[in-house]
Amino acid sequence: MVESKKKQGELQQLLRHIPKVDEFLGWVDQETEAPLRLVKKVVRELLDEVRQAIIGGAEHTRDDLARHHLMPRFERLLASFMQPNFRTVINATGVVVHTNMGRSLLPESAMAGLLAAGSRYSNLEFDLTTGKRGSRYALVEELLCELTGAEAGLVVNNNAAAVMLALDTLAKGQEVIVSRGQLVEIGGSFRIPDVMEKSGARLVEVGATNRTHLHDYEQAISDQTALLLKVHTSNYRMIGFTSEVPLVDLVTLGHEMGLPVMEDLGSGSLIDLSRFGLGREPTVQETVATGADVITFSGDKLLGGPQAGIIVGSKEIIATIKKNPLNRALRIDKFTLAGLEAILRLYLDEQTVVSQVPTLAMLAQEYAVIQRRATRLLRRLKPELAGVCSVFSQDTESMVGGGALPEQTLPSRAVILQPQRMRLSRFEQRLRAAAIPVIGRVENDALLLDMRTVADSEVKELASTVVAVCKE
Ligand SMILES: *Cc1c(COP(=O)(O)O)cnc(C)c1O
Repeated sequence: MVESKKKQGELQQLLRHIPKVDEFLGWVDQETEAPLRLVKKVVRELLDEVRQAIIGGAEHTRDDLARHHLMPRFERLLASFMQPNFRTVINATGVVVHTNMGRSLLPESAMAGLLAAGSRYSNLEFDLTTGKRGSRYALVEELLCELTGAEAGLVVNNNAAAVMLALDTLAKGQEVIVSRGQLVEIGGSFRIPDVMEKSGARLVEVGATNRTHLHDYEQAISDQTALLLKVHTSNYRMIGFTSEVPLVDLVTLGHEMGLPVMEDLGSGSLIDLSRFGLGREPTVQETVATGADVITFSGDKLLGGPQAGIIVGSKEIIATIKKNPLNRALRIDKFTLAGLEAILRLYLDEQTVVSQVPTLAMLAQEYAVIQRRATRLLRRLKPELAGVCSVFSQDTESMVGGGALPEQTLPSRAVILQPQRMRLSRFEQRLRAAAIPVIGRVENDALLLDMRTVADSEVKELASTVVAVCKE
């Protein structure tokens, strides 16, 4: 009893010695670049942290509350608040279209377009010929038609929005027939059955999980049917005793029955990926050529552009979709438009597009080029890390990412790091906390840096971050 009373007294004493906010502000360098508002916030947060720690029973002496102890903590906290939350990272995962790291990188021509769109007025919705109001889509529609062979097209915020908008326009309150094998979930919140429900269309599932036949669709068609939908299974593959109805057969059936046919292509590509050693996937052009009425795909997956959902198809259907009020809510901004136009223009030249669009260039990169990059990194790390971290290079496999071609990999080269003085989890965490965070893959108790997704211009930066973290 007496003992705890004494403790209480000491605690109160200690709490009274926590500096007041104004007192602390007096210690802060008046020349600091940080806005006063931020300085005050950080001071309050720090003092609160100290108070909570004391109340929580953490060991504190009066010396711990002195200026020379608190100021370095304040400086560190302030520095972390001064850093932008949205930052550049080095993607050493080898996943090219990494959804968590911004998917596709834009080429310079697209960046120039973004800069101009942001810093100067533009003809976003102004027709320069008539001097009247124009449509923002008109600026890319012709390019989309030229490249895909479609009659018409429009662009919305992302592919999820494109699917939702198409379903809402074509099948609200009616039925959409989909194969059971295609009721996929793509990255957490996009599930075909859920998107369908939100759009107000009723899902009619046909076939079995592994096999669906044309007659399954035929039998499910009723006077309530509004659309036949095919969904690219993107991020998963079925193997074994399976069969899917080819899109062209679905189109024939749909048109016989007077029904539109739609395909959600997901990662739609305008070029044949087999030239990178990847599997053969139907391109957007080939999909359009089947006669499908509506096709949706992402702007920032294999296309390599900004985040967008592209809808191409027949003139009549695209015109109806354009008139849907939901379209206004899902519309793209001027940055997307500027970036997308620049990317689409690059596709006009088949000879140069692969080297000009970073996503394609990274997929097409030759092993020898990646290996040379790994060697350059190794040469920088080796002399610095002796006794601190073992480092060597090794073959690895990169992934396309973005839910595309999940079971296919590309041969690559990685630098492997095994820290000797700290645990791997700590090492990985410190690399994430660096000024330019480095994100790799943990495999077999080592950190693997796949050099496919690291730019040549990042090697030096990457090396100095790794060295600094290893020697901390
Ligand atoms: C990725 C994907 C989507 C979602 O596209 P976002 O552009 O990410 O909105 C929808 N359908 C399929 C088949 C996909 O692969």
